[in-house]
Amino acid sequence: MAVKAIGMFEKLNVPMLGVIENMSYFECSKCTEKHYIFGQGGAQKISEKYNLPFLGEIPLNSGIMTGSDLGKPIMLTQPDSASANAFTSSAKNIAAQCSIQAIRMQEEMEAEAPAST
Ligand SMILES: [Zn+2]
Repeated sequence: MAVKAIGMFEKLNVPMLGVIENMSYFECSKCTEKHYIFGQGGAQKISEKYNLPFLGEIPLNSGIMTGSDLGKPIMLTQPDSASANAFTSSAKNIAAQCSIQAIRMQEEMEAEAPAST
């Protein structure tokens, strides 16, 4: 699914900032282990295959779903949870990639613009 989407974006020339893995793992309350219910490292492999930055992994948290239905993001309902922290660090990585893309676009525009005298 994700690989198909990447192929489509490449065809349409849509720039991709990177890969974020949703439902990466489950942090259960019974132990301190991360349970990788859907397998581990899938998004990391995709980011390496397509040479895209890996931006983060968002753990499973039932609060994300219930909060989304109520319009209450996990950042507000459980600000200290692993999921909220993962959103914060992923957002920082996205912001960094936006800056990198902006610099690249500016450099491309400057290279294409006729030299001013
Ligand atoms: Zn457990």
